[in-house]
Amino acid sequence: MIELKRRGLLLILSSPSGAGKSTLTRNLVREDRGIRLSISVTTRHKRPSEINGVHYNFMENVADFEEMRDRGELLEWAHVHENYYGTPRKPVEHALTRGEDMMFDIDWQGTKQIVEKMRSDVVSVFILPPSMEELKARLERRAEDTPEVIARRLRNAREEIAQWASYDYVLINDDLDRTYGDLKAILAAERLRRERQVELGGFIDGLLAASVK
Ligand code: 5GP
Repeated sequence: MIELKRRGLLLILSSPSGAGKSTLTRNLVREDRGIRLSISVTTRHKRPSEINGVHYNFMENVADFEEMRDRGELLEWAHVHENYYGTPRKPVEHALTRGEDMMFDIDWQGTKQIVEKMRSDVVSVFILPPSMEELKARLERRAEDTPEVIARRLRNAREEIAQWASYDYVLINDDLDRTYGDLKAILAAERLRRERQVELGGFIDGLLAASVK
């Protein structure tokens, strides 16, 4: 099998809380060995089901987050639902230089910052819920947040959804399996884009140089 080297890409998934983004992200990094999840830092409290270092690097102290940000160690950061969230810069730079792909579960503010810095490497996907009723039902079913937190997340959902038009792809998640299939198709096609195939020129030179009679 011919495998040419290519540039890594940055796959960003955004959606309002409860639209299914975390499930899609987890499934994809579990199944596809070629893409790694960026682990964000956050000042949000850990949910019972979450593991420090796996879902997030949780930071008790807001001052620690602000120091990290001020030292320039974050590729992007945002204040979401009254907590700080940020993407550590180093793992992303390492992945790109090694030609590996990285995946991000971040909001629209963070997406905007990464796009400004690395447009040609970014593929952004926005996940919409099928309805606001379903979004609320999913947040309640998750049963990991207080009613106040759920109400705040629903209010913020409208602000997040309003950003849909700045994404490369928009998927309506009314069927998780189908949405997951669409996401895999997007990744497969984006990996094949000509401008990411850095060794294609050499391959083509070799093709054309061969004399076939
Ligand atoms: P949650 O608290 O439900 O885990 O995440 C809340 C929101 O913050 C989600 O929309 C999630 O995508 C976003 N988020 C998580 N990590 C980051 C990050 O590092 N940067 C930004 N900008 N948003 C993040």
